[in-house]
Amino acid sequence: MRKLDQLNFANTFARLPDTFYSRLQPTPLPNPYLVSFNANAAPLIDLDSTEASRADFAEHFSGSRQLPGAEPLAMLYAGHQFGQFVPQLGDGRAILLGEIRNRAGELWDVQLKGAGITPYSRQGDGRAVLRSSIREYLCSEAMHGLGIPTSRALCIVGSDEEVYRERIETAAVLTRLAPTHVRFGSFEVFYYRGQHEHLATLADYVIDRHFPHLIDDADKHRQFLNEVTLRTARLMAQWQAVGFSHGVMNTDNMSILGLTFDYGPFGFMEAYDPGYICNHSDPQGRYAFDQQPQIGLWNLTCLAQALSPLISQDKAEAVLDGYAPAFYEHYTRLMGAKLGLSNATQEDIPLIAALLKMMQASQLDYTRLLRSLGNFNSAPDANNSGLRDQFVDRAAFDGWASSYRARLLHETGTDSARKMRMDAVNPKYILRNYLAQTAIEKAEKDRDFSEVDRLLRLLGKPFDEQAEMERYAAAPPEWARQIEVSCSS
Ligand code: AMP
Ligand code: MG
Repeated sequence: MRKLDQLNFANTFARLPDTFYSRLQPTPLPNPYLVSFNANAAPLIDLDSTEASRADFAEHFSGSRQLPGAEPLAMLYAGHQFGQFVPQLGDGRAILLGEIRNRAGELWDVQLKGAGITPYSRQGDGRAVLRSSIREYLCSEAMHGLGIPTSRALCIVGSDEEVYRERIETAAVLTRLAPTHVRFGSFEVFYYRGQHEHLATLADYVIDRHFPHLIDDADKHRQFLNEVTLRTARLMAQWQAVGFSHGVMNTDNMSILGLTFDYGPFGFMEAYDPGYICNHSDPQGRYAFDQQPQIGLWNLTCLAQALSPLISQDKAEAVLDGYAPAFYEHYTRLMGAKLGLSNATQEDIPLIAALLKMMQASQLDYTRLLRSLGNFNSAPDANNSGLRDQFVDRAAFDGWASSYRARLLHETGTDSARKMRMDAVNPKYILRNYLAQTAIEKAEKDRDFSEVDRLLRLLGKPFDEQAEMERYAAAPPEWARQIEVSCSS
């Protein structure tokens, strides 16, 4: 493990033509202090965790001190925002320090989010607030704990610098790690500018690093689109299965690697409602929970359009036709596993759909109900009252339970073995908005970051029973209904 001044920067993105980015230095946060450090992410960049206790650690991750080997830059991109094309976006407040090649040979981007104004800031102030930095920090690590591909988070550095949002807040810098921050919009910008020569450069850059098995493929650009399509389809299936809503699925927030990316007004669904809208700034529900799979495809269509100088229309269409089957196959398998079915098929969809419908009618908490389903007793005379009593329509539950029991006869193993399988895929702990809110309020009021650290630990192991943490798995309190999360961050 390495000290801060020995990190192994490789900076391959900075070797691309300078049209792809703007070089610049971060704007230091005044009087920075460490809010939280995630020791679990430190090995990704070979960082010795004890470095976090250095007096100048916060200065390194808030722009005051440069890490030796870093070549800071803001990446250029464009994107479709809420359906409208915006020709130039780019990192308006994020600065890529560079990529680190770790001992395992992996490249990890080290990015400071909230590190000041860049040429792409438009009207923005280049800052991120402590509130949204805590939300992203916790959620990206929670998603990782859930086994869902995501960017990671190394630390948050805070400051008393005031930032104006819907109210006055304080600025913070989140250090984000990801294998790359290239996104759909990174391609769109060159397509719409007519700089088509850069499309192949960028595609080959991504292929070389992340899809090396395609390097010598005669049809590598088509295969590349195919890989992105399949990864995106699988990611959408994972979001749907865990009840996650991203909130701002603009093409500039879609990772080319199919990672969950750019956390803003996200939300984990509580009472099951397919039309759930987590983002208060999206009243039309463009990015409502049940829209996500089709928005994933819409966004891929934008990517395919941007890649059209490299891939013929017929081929691109054939690739995109693979999206829906890949999504459904993965979704069926994941949802089946949540019900304890080891090889779920299309034929199991009605059983799954019927359960969701009953959950919606009874406004049951998605996570809690599925977790408790592990206790289902499949004996013919069992009435499963603990589960049954949660549903308003008991007769409907009884009907469903007998179908479920019949289906379980095709599974091997005991009820307790099934419960173990189900507990490994139905999380006990998720990042509920009110849990994040509680940690944020403590941090903002008293500079007390203990709750951030506690949630970070808890959510790293979301499937485990954690005896002292039982209350974090409880139903949300009444006041949680009042929390509104918007694009402002
Ligand atoms: P987001 O909705 O966070 O994905 O951001 C969309 C675009 O707005 C990106 O180009 C961001 O870099 C930019 N942006 C968001 N917030 C700010 C800010 N406070 N200052 C400058 N640019 C911002
Ligand atoms: Mg973004």
